[in-house]
Amino acid sequence: MVKKILVCILIILLTMNLTACGESKVSRYESEFLVLFNTVTKIVAYTESKEEFTKHSEFIYNNLETYHELYDIYNDYEGVNNLKTINDHAGLEPVKVDKKIIDLLLFAKNEYKKTDGKVNIAFGSVLRIWHEYRTAGTDDPENAKLPPMEELEKAKLHTDIEKVIIDEAQSTVFLEDPDMALDVGAIGKGFAVEQVAQMAIEQGFTSGLISVGGNIRAIGNKGQDKESWNVGIQNPDKDSEEPILKIMNLTDKSLVTSGDYERYYTVDGVNYHHIIDPKTLLPSEYFTAVTIICKDSGEADALSTAVFNMPLDEGIALIDSLPDTEALWILNNGEIKYSAHFEELIKP
Ligand code: ADP
Ligand code: MG
Repeated sequence: MVKKILVCILIILLTMNLTACGESKVSRYESEFLVLFNTVTKIVAYTESKEEFTKHSEFIYNNLETYHELYDIYNDYEGVNNLKTINDHAGLEPVKVDKKIIDLLLFAKNEYKKTDGKVNIAFGSVLRIWHEYRTAGTDDPENAKLPPMEELEKAKLHTDIEKVIIDEAQSTVFLEDPDMALDVGAIGKGFAVEQVAQMAIEQGFTSGLISVGGNIRAIGNKGQDKESWNVGIQNPDKDSEEPILKIMNLTDKSLVTSGDYERYYTVDGVNYHHIIDPKTLLPSEYFTAVTIICKDSGEADALSTAVFNMPLDEGIALIDSLPDTEALWILNNGEIKYSAHFEELIKP
């Protein structure tokens, strides 16, 4: 059985766990959780006491959990109207939802416009089919099959994001087309991480790293020494002697990678991954991986998927038009391309 392979983000930290810069001393603490967003959540910070770390870590976990339930498209939670509830009521009636859902959907609509539709949260009907075939093919590799193009094309007729009707005053969402569905796999994690990071900062968490399945948000710097956080970009080539391609300096920035080696299944010896090109309805073939660095983790997540779905020149033009946004592309032949100022963030 081909297991879901998680983005293994390597967080390189100084082994020194005491930073002496005069009076107070801080130690490095780290916590890890396995439940949220079907992936690994990691929190790292240098704090003066374990209690202080635990307080922040619990705050972050609890709030991420709220987002996890609200943005779930597969499971119901008692007393919660989530994205699954909206999908279940497609074509039937508007669903009253938490503002956290309204905010995500408004953000996602904007990302759709910005990326010329390369990341579409209303793509659920098509993604559902791929998900079904991938799950079946993973459980029973011998009989793994590709979804028939005819079925995908029929589903594509039900992916119009304009039919996601958001009523902010009533706090409701209505999917006008009964056969459409939301899938926020490309945006939800990053958006949730950003919101929770902001909340944590307000609570005094001014220095730390939050990583949810490789959606990394660096808050401030490492603390007293004023050094940036260091985050590694994984080499997609697992047989390489160089497991980390670049180590990045991050201060108040997010780093998110979309890659074809994260989640896939195999049909007749060919791997089919989980990021679907809206044009071809097939797994996008432009790159092996795309990494985005910008401040907002929701933006980084949305862009990582969108840029993965567009040719290199289009992606470079888009990234270089956005302020404080950088990208790294790994081409299928292993070659690396950078946006205008990406290299300035690489740790020398
Ligand atoms: P990951 O979730 O593995 O970190 P991404 O952020 O690139 O990677 O999101 C991939 C997920 O986004 C898929 O599993 C699927 O749910 C969804 N998705 C795939 N293709 C598209 C697309 N063209 N538009 C919107 N969402 C997509
Ligand atoms: Mg993404």
